[in-house]
Amino acid sequence: MPHHYFLADTDPTYRDNRRMIESMTKTVRLATRTKIIRIPVVVHVLFHTDDENIEVSQIESQIAALNRDYRLHNTDRSQIPAPFRPFATDTLIEFGLAVRDPEGNATTAITRTRTSKAVFPYDPSDPLATKKLDDMIKFSGFGKAAWPRDSYLNLWTCSLGGGLLGYAQFPGGAAATDGVVIQNRAFGTNGIAAPPYNLGRTAVHEVGHWLNLLHIWGDDDGACSLSDDVSDTPNQAGSNGSDVRISDFPHITCNNGPHGDMFMNYMDYVDDDTMFMFTAGQLKRMNATLAGPRASLSQSAGLTPVDTPALAPETVALATALVRSTVGDEHGDPPTREFDGVRWV
Ligand SMILES: [Zn+2]
Repeated sequence: MPHHYFLADTDPTYRDNRRMIESMTKTVRLATRTKIIRIPVVVHVLFHTDDENIEVSQIESQIAALNRDYRLHNTDRSQIPAPFRPFATDTLIEFGLAVRDPEGNATTAITRTRTSKAVFPYDPSDPLATKKLDDMIKFSGFGKAAWPRDSYLNLWTCSLGGGLLGYAQFPGGAAATDGVVIQNRAFGTNGIAAPPYNLGRTAVHEVGHWLNLLHIWGDDDGACSLSDDVSDTPNQAGSNGSDVRISDFPHITCNNGPHGDMFMNYMDYVDDDTMFMFTAGQLKRMNATLAGPRASLSQSAGLTPVDTPALAPETVALATALVRSTVGDEHGDPPTREFDGVRWV
């Protein structure tokens, strides 16, 4: 969210886009999407030492982790507490390393850039922190420029300082900085990925933001007034971190008993081995994004091999008519303020 607030404070176009997207998300959430959408991914590896120039197998393990979790194929879903199991959802979103680059040539969709930065520094007290990271990571000089965001999800992986695991840009921001940055030791499930962040779930969380999901506690850090604008996630007070384990269920805040916080959701801050699910309500926000500001991804040729005769681009079929969905949490104290795309008002 610091990245979001920086852009919201400094970029009027971003503010306008965010409010427009949120307004669309609130009123035109899609009921269902029955067809799988496959999102072409490009991974930009920035390395200073050779071990940071991660193996292809580590990159592939991150793509596999995204597919595992977005398709609800994760075997640890069995640990979802029974009261929350009905809300766990297969998003029908898949990811694949692109096989066609922006110029139409065959590609591995992995770029490798040696950088003079031993670590990309991050100072959480600096309001310009994520802007400075973007300037270094997403442009030539120290980093690598993005591929067109209309056709690709850009993932950068590198050594981040300040304890930062990753950050994402919500829909509505500038094209040049669109995408997700992930700490290389929290990327994928093998290679230099290290516990407790070695199940690929930093990227699962950050790609959730890229698809316009908010933190499940509504970023009010202890209050009960703000929410994630998703109706099937209980209102919760603050984030849950490494100290909250699945054995701590139920973890009650904001009068959301008997089941408490849905802290095993990917949009909380628990360790990788404690997060297992997205909900149907979160999927509605993601579907609104995929039918709205990121609709062009379904037309991408990024996953069409270059030696394949030109095929009609795949379109995402919407199974049912658009429906309105009420905004507000079903459990615990109701939130008192609503997200307008920029702030809770
Ligand atoms: Zn987050």
